[in-house]
Amino acid sequence: ATPTSIMVGSGRAAELGVLFRRGDALQSLRDIGIVAFDKTGTLTSGAPAVTDFEPASGLDANEVLALVAAVEARSEHPIATAIVEAARERNLVLQPVDGFEAVPGRGVAGSVGGRTVLVGSQRWLEEHGIDTSDLAARAGALGEAARTPLLAAIDGRVAALIGVADPIKPSAAAAIAALKASGLEVAMITGDNRRTAEAIAKTLGIDRVEAEILPDGKAEAVKRLAAGGRKVAFVGDGINDAPALASADAGIAIGTGTDIAIESADVVLMSGDPLGVARAIGLSKATMRNIG
Ligand code: ADP
Ligand code: MG
Repeated sequence: ATPTSIMVGSGRAAELGVLFRRGDALQSLRDIGIVAFDKTGTLTSGAPAVTDFEPASGLDANEVLALVAAVEARSEHPIATAIVEAARERNLVLQPVDGFEAVPGRGVAGSVGGRTVLVGSQRWLEEHGIDTSDLAARAGALGEAARTPLLAAIDGRVAALIGVADPIKPSAAAAIAALKASGLEVAMITGDNRRTAEAIAKTLGIDRVEAEILPDGKAEAVKRLAAGGRKVAFVGDGINDAPALASADAGIAIGTGTDIAIESADVVLMSGDPLGVARAIGLSKATMRNIG
């Protein structure tokens, strides 16, 4: 590829809202065999809402939600924002929190008015020795319905099941269909619950799912996908997507995402539209073909 032809490709790319940050990105995109997407904020809006709140039997829903939201008010996770919003809608008063702790990919903990509160994945509660069997079956059902199930515990006992749903972006299914139509394999890498991730992948026609991946495990997940010998593009938006963006054969950042993701990527899609991925790959093929 000559510098001039790459600039031509990049000019067309700019019109399509695709920014090539590295000179060799057109080549690496052309050779991609697998496109792996982050889920939250990339295929989904990244702004989830609480859809379900079921207290354990005998507990008052508002009382439990107030305790849970008090702890989540200290977290910046989108799930935390959704839970705090749900408490605000019910006009609940959130008390101060002591000993707040957040573990990425797991959940949060804190003490509210002398009561110990945990919120997060089923695994997060089980790691604290909490028996989740009362609500586990319903958590599974929420996952099947493409909602993220969270559990809360108060003073060592499971206290609520919370369902959170993050709407799929309108063009996500079309983007995946376009990639598959051009012979690419499509995968999803997410920290979310396995059932939830698989339900969303099924809706979108995604063949391979790496779920319950801890934030520092996404780059490794990209390597697992690459082990079959095909070149992998990773598409993501978050802080914890940066290592995977840097280690993929082509890193594609969503322009509405975090600065760290953008700085780690080879290609940036100026809008949050996942269709940009198919456009960028199509453009790289056309440009590289023209210049031989
Ligand atoms: P994603 O890849 O979907 O952005 P994360 O790695 O951020 O996922 O989180 C994975 C899981 O960790 C969430 O689905 C949730 O179960 C749990 N989790 C993380 N942070 C929180 C929080 N602040 N409150 C409740 N659960 C959390
Ligand atoms: Mg994300």
